Amino acid sequence: MIAPPGAGKGTQGTVIAEHFDIPHIATGDLLRDHVARRTEVGQAVQGYLDRGELVPDEVVLQMVRAALEPLQGGAGWVLDGVPRTMQQARALYEIAVEMDMTADVALHLQVEDAELVRRLLARARQTGRSDDTEDVIRHRLALYYDVTHPILEWYGERGILVSVDANRPADAVGRQILTALEVLRQVVDRGPDAERRAVDLTSLGAAFGRPSGQS
Ligand code: AMP
Repeated sequence: MIAPPGAGKGTQGTVIAEHFDIPHIATGDLLRDHVARRTEVGQAVQGYLDRGELVPDEVVLQMVRAALEPLQGGAGWVLDGVPRTMQQARALYEIAVEMDMTADVALHLQVEDAELVRRLLARARQTGRSDDTEDVIRHRLALYYDVTHPILEWYGERGILVSVDANRPADAVGRQILTALEVLRQVVDRGPDAERRAVDLTSLGAAFGRPSGQS
């Protein structure tokens, strides 16, 4: 899943994982767990999380590799929060090739900035997450557009990009995601890789009465 902070990766990742009965691996959760347990990794990354900076690629990749290795040969996984840089995307692809488990789908959750800020500030009031203050939120969003969003083009070229309008309520977004994934599953299970094409569902917003230009 590739999405800006506040787009609903955690919620939708859980929906997908439950539906397909596969593990949900969220790098943000793994990192926060390290911080809470005060591990060596936790102490090294806490400052990055508090400031809304990206943790160095090597730290994330080592953590993700360790999480994926026991799942080799299984039914798959949902990766949430990674890759966040092009370097992570390439490294992750190489890890996945080694395991013969490359991504079938790159799921992009598209949400307007104003809605993201609104959701993140609401979450801050509920959870007190250290990186959900307005300044840090703006910084995380800017980082997303600078270094994470460009990865989508790469997945588009690979023909595995599914982009969903996630401005709507979580249950409607979840239904749309599962419908798209179920359809794609048939292609992935049967079709040759070369037949895969990028799918963009963001314009479906118009079908639900959203004004044009606001996907
Ligand atoms: P998230 O829960 O996905 O919003 O992630 C929370 C924070 O964890 C981010 O703001 C980063 O500081 C860090 N983080 C999570 N995933 C990554 C990643 N793939 N690369 C670098 N930093 C990450």
